[in-house]
Formats: sequence, structure tokens, C-alpha cells
Amino acid sequence: MRFVLSADRVESLPDSPAEVAVVGRSNVGKSSLVNAIGGSKALAKTSKTPGRTQLLNLFAIDDPGAHGGTLVDCPGYGYASAPGHLRQSWQKMAERYLLERPPLRSILVLVDGEIGPTKLDVQLLEWLRHHGRPLVVVATKHDKVKANVRDKRKREVAERCGVAPGDVVWVSSHKGVGIDRLRGVVLSLLA
Ligand code: GDP
Repeated sequence: MRFVLSADRVESLPDSPAEVAVVGRSNVGKSSLVNAIGGSKALAKTSKTPGRTQLLNLFAIDDPGAHGGTLVDCPGYGYASAPGHLRQSWQKMAERYLLERPPLRSILVLVDGEIGPTKLDVQLLEWLRHHGRPLVVVATKHDKVKANVRDKRKREVAERCGVAPGDVVWVSSHKGVGIDRLRGVVLSLLA
């Protein structure tokens, strides 16, 4: 995977056959996950570069199975809760991207597997569903949860996120858990 560019507006995005977006609140493990999917530690630095945290950061997936598709790292959120005039312009940009971008196939919604979905995560999911947007729930930090409580945690995450437990992709970027499965999910969404 390689960094393509950062965009501060939807209009300046290049043409793309297909895109998968990654969204999550700050500290959920988004950069670590982008790195893990891409198999490179250098990628996260890119999206953590000051000034780029409020932009759409595009990564080309070089795998032939991706058919020239792009992974789009979206800035952190507080969607839908604040009235329009209170939301930051970059937030509005991310919202427009998530709702209106034609090549966007699906949205990976990251929730912290250690602490479970926050109120804001649930709001984001409701907002996306309200607008009929396709999404995949990805729980992070699998390695931080003790093995004997993982099944219960997975059921809780699924219930709060409104999906079946089997549809939650639970990953550990640090230990590599679930990364191949998630990469497969991304490739099938881009295909
Ligand atoms: P971002 O703000 O969403 O981009 O989150 P980061 O990727 O920077 O991760 C936030 C914190 O969580 C960092 O301290 C990471 O080391 C930690 N973290 C991220 N993924 C994992 C994981 O899979 N396992 C563990 N144990 N920690 C993680």
C-alpha cells in the first residue's frame, strides 16, 4: 500500500474505481490499523502528520485483487450531533465524503475492542444507517482483552453496534490478529 495524497475537499479527490473508508474517533487505533492492512509502519506517520489529521488521506492498495482501489482514512468525528454551523469545516467535508462520494463502496467503522463502543460511535453508526450507507464494524485492540472475556465482549460490541457477532471483525494491529480477514473483506468490497 502506498500514500497517494491528502485532500481538504471532496472536489479535489482523484478519480478512483472504488474506495473503502476508515473512520473512528481519535485513539481508537486507526493509524495502527492502516499500517497493519498496508503491511508498513511508515504509512501511519503520514496520516498523523500535523495538518493531515483533518484531511482525507488516500492510500492505494497495490494488491492486484484491489483493482486499483483506494483506502481512504477519514478525519476523526463528532458527526450528526452538533448543528451544522457548529461543526468544523473538515468535519462537514468528511460527512459529505461519506454520504456523497460515488466510488465509496463501504465504510469501516472502528470501535475500541478494549473499552467497547462509545456513545459517539453509536451515534456515528446510527447516522450512517439513517443515510443508508454500507458499513462494516471493526473492533480494535483484540490483544488487550483477556481471552476468557473475549466472547462476551464480542457479543456486547455486536449488540451495541446493531450487527451480528459474526459480522464484527475483531483485529489486533499489534499482534496481527484478524488482519488477513480484514484485508480480505476490503479486497472483496473493492472487487
Ligand atoms: P488513532 O488515533 O486512531 O490513529 O490510534 P493509534 O493507531 O495511534 O493508536 C492509539 C493507541 O492505541 C496507541 O497507543 C497504539 O499503540 C494503541 N493501539 C492501537 N492498536 C492497538 C492494538 O492492536 N493493540 C494494542 N495493545 N494497542 C493498540
